[in-house]
Amino acid sequence: MGMDDGFRQIPGLLLAWYDVHKRRLPWRDGPSAYHVWVSEIMLQQTRVEAVIPYYERFLKALPDIKALASAPEEQLLKLWEGLGYYSRVRNMAKAARQVLEDYGGELPSEPVELCKLSGIGDYTAAAIASFAFGRKTPAVDGNLLRIFARLTDFAENIRTPAAKRQAAAFFNDIFPDDRPGDMNQALMDLGATVCLPGGAARCADCPLSAHCLAYAAGREALLPLMPVKKPRPVEERTVFVIRTADKVLVRKRPSKGLLAGLYEFPNEKGTFNKEDACTYCKNLGLTPVSVRLLPAAKHVFTHLEWHMTGFELYVAEASTAFTPISDLADSVPLPSAFAAYTGKVLQS
Ligand code: SF4
Repeated sequence: MGMDDGFRQIPGLLLAWYDVHKRRLPWRDGPSAYHVWVSEIMLQQTRVEAVIPYYERFLKALPDIKALASAPEEQLLKLWEGLGYYSRVRNMAKAARQVLEDYGGELPSEPVELCKLSGIGDYTAAAIASFAFGRKTPAVDGNLLRIFARLTDFAENIRTPAAKRQAAAFFNDIFPDDRPGDMNQALMDLGATVCLPGGAARCADCPLSAHCLAYAAGREALLPLMPVKKPRPVEERTVFVIRTADKVLVRKRPSKGLLAGLYEFPNEKGTFNKEDACTYCKNLGLTPVSVRLLPAAKHVFTHLEWHMTGFELYVAEASTAFTPISDLADSVPLPSAFAAYTGKVLQS
């Protein structure tokens, strides 16, 4: 792709805009590589506003790489509870141990070295290298792909490796030597607040509009081009909240697969009625004294949706497998898939 001279103006315009409009976020302003790493991993699947309290709590509990490397898994899962995609925090702990063993306890500054660490891909490596070490490495995520597609009026599918390479080459070409970290942050902020997805681009407020080919052609709402997504499969499940006044039955999920190693209320595929729910409870060797239908709930995973029916069953006596309800809030990592039912138990 030949570089349009107008594109060379982009860094100057964007950084001037960023200096005025930048979002104040706790991991900005001279962060350590560890801080950038934690924030970027949390931000992978989660909105900025939702991440902030998690980020602060995480750093308070685990202030450095050494603390992360030696944290027990239950603590990691508890700190991550509600963020979802728990393999992220497991990978971070693994990577922290790699850093202690192979890099003397300091995150490396080279993207190729960073990519050798568990859970760190091109994007996160580029973000750490540019924010913490001032490397000229564009961090190409969905925001940068969208901005690239619109600036260049890119008429092909953006979700291909070739398109990603072109976007990386485009930004590499225009990235400034002096503020590469701010340039990445500025592009992220532009993508999050101005060059919004779908038909929501705010081109009138955009510092780059004079150099944007899609805007000039009136095509910004049509870009980037993406393949049509298949709908997610839906799984009906029934969740059993089996309890006494102060204890509830939870079990640990298998160490592999969906929500690995987390805790859950017993649940089964299919939609049960009250009678079936009582039979289920009896089959566990417990005696239900009352049963109540709970509100239906839905949880969306990346490739799957759970549509849940819930029953609360009071039993005559708790077995040893039961957990004190007070522990649910403090130490048992129950994933957000069960949030609707966890909330019911904690309220009661
Ligand atoms: S002019 Fe519009 S489409 Fe182009 S970069 Fe700015 S906000 Fe995005």
